[in-house]
Amino acid sequence: MPSRPDYRAMLDTAIEEARIGLAEGGIPIGAALFHRDGRLLGRGHNRRVQEGDPSVHGETDAFRKAGRQRGYRDTIMVTTLAPCWYCSGLVRQFGIGAVVMGESVNFQGGAEWLREHGIEVVDLNDDTCIRMLGDWIAANPEVWNEDIGEE
Ligand SMILES: [Zn+2]
Repeated sequence: MPSRPDYRAMLDTAIEEARIGLAEGGIPIGAALFHRDGRLLGRGHNRRVQEGDPSVHGETDAFRKAGRQRGYRDTIMVTTLAPCWYCSGLVRQFGIGAVVMGESVNFQGGAEWLREHGIEVVDLNDDTCIRMLGDWIAANPEVWNEDIGEE
């Protein structure tokens, strides 16, 4: 049996990115794209506030930073929060093999939809992720609603 990648260690990279975003005054959501063999391909965080750009989510940032890859089947998108519809679409568009998320308490996004389409989805239900974003949402409800496309 092939050894399972260390999802916890991978999540730590995404959490680091979320903290960078928080320190910049942004929404604390981070992500990282890894190869299954454990290699980090790219990492990033949400920069809606910092750059005034609603298209820079943690996942899209990590994906872009990873540059051109020959294929995505053996990659894992690791994110502090369940991916939104936009990022779930990215996962399917490029055939990313697996999604590891820190939590789905603050937001469920497209996690079930990804599962229904055969993508391996692992929810680590991590307290640090739940608290970091939960506290931020409580303090910034309007920016949060803007980020998830709620009026
Ligand atoms: Zn997203």
